[in-house]
Amino acid sequence: MPPTPEQPVPMRALLAGARRSQPAMLDLLRRLVEAESPSDDKAAVDGCVALAAAHAKALGGRVKLHRQRAFGDVLEARFGPRPKAGSPEPVLLLGHLDTVWPLGTLKAMPCRIAEGRLWGPGTLDMKAGVAMAFTAIELLTEIGLLHREIVLLLNSEEEVGSPVSRPITERLALASQAVYVLEPAQGLAYKTARKGTGNWRIEVKGVAAHAGVDFEKGASAIRELARVVETVSSWTDLKRGLTVSVGLVRGGSKTNVIPAQAWAEVDVRIACKADGPRIERKFAALQPTDKRCSVTVAGGINRPPMERTRGTVQLYRRARALAVELGFQLDEASTGGASDGNFTSALGIPTLDGMGAVGEGAHARHESIVLEHLAPRTALLAGLLAG
Ligand SMILES: [Zn+2]
Repeated sequence: MPPTPEQPVPMRALLAGARRSQPAMLDLLRRLVEAESPSDDKAAVDGCVALAAAHAKALGGRVKLHRQRAFGDVLEARFGPRPKAGSPEPVLLLGHLDTVWPLGTLKAMPCRIAEGRLWGPGTLDMKAGVAMAFTAIELLTEIGLLHREIVLLLNSEEEVGSPVSRPITERLALASQAVYVLEPAQGLAYKTARKGTGNWRIEVKGVAAHAGVDFEKGASAIRELARVVETVSSWTDLKRGLTVSVGLVRGGSKTNVIPAQAWAEVDVRIACKADGPRIERKFAALQPTDKRCSVTVAGGINRPPMERTRGTVQLYRRARALAVELGFQLDEASTGGASDGNFTSALGIPTLDGMGAVGEGAHARHESIVLEHLAPRTALLAGLLAG
């Protein structure tokens, strides 16, 4: 029987188990980190996926590989009893095995323990979260608390926008009661809201001319682009959580040539779903001020925001109560960064994010996880999966 309020989840026993398992968890994490896995190198990512798949099988998982051509394979592993008619829907644990780090990064950023941390590429984002999930499942199996099916989905291309795993994630989420995302914590907090993201490319064509001889015949694409940059930047509305940031611009050919072409790339973040179509309409309606120029735009919102829904808040409240039993206070936070949790939340499935490691330096040279938080957070994850 699943635990009821009369049969509380034995959080202290889970914590003791997580502490005992920490050396094995760190060993698994080190092996995952040392299997370097940049999103754009299928063979490398597949190597890391194979390691995780072998570990899942060793824990009794029912493993399925979603084969991919252009990206690493996507790993689906199921644990616990096979669902029967009337049994509760599974919980989906979501993570990724790819990193932003190119092959060879380990030479300059070796996986090592120092100053109470484990350092290395992909430790925080998010191989530690993967190791925690495996350990939590192992703990539940040992204590006999794995009463319902847990689906662990580890994709291979989250860092490049999850182009092939998104439909798999969405299909599994729709069949699940809740989604727990193994991305790093925000400071010490779980994440209950994330902004949605969009990208646009703006191209301006002008008319080239000699800057000295034929100035009047030219139409500067750079000047036109500058006006467009001002326009789109003015759509930022911090109170609404809407930001528009032009991150890249290029244009022109020579100093003495009126530029015939220029382009920009834009990063957009939205906090409410309704801002997606609104901002898409605005980009589509951009017009040149100088009619001799043309403006074309391509892009759109690619991840909807993860809004702080009632279902998500319920998951967070439960996590907070279990954390108290473990002796720490768990806060919630929102972030401008997106994850695969954005997809599952947008489908209306209660989604709690930031359930992986505590640390610093995702995508940065000082990427590391803080060891003292590893066991308590793993016990908390296990407790939530037991309930
Ligand atoms: Zn990540």
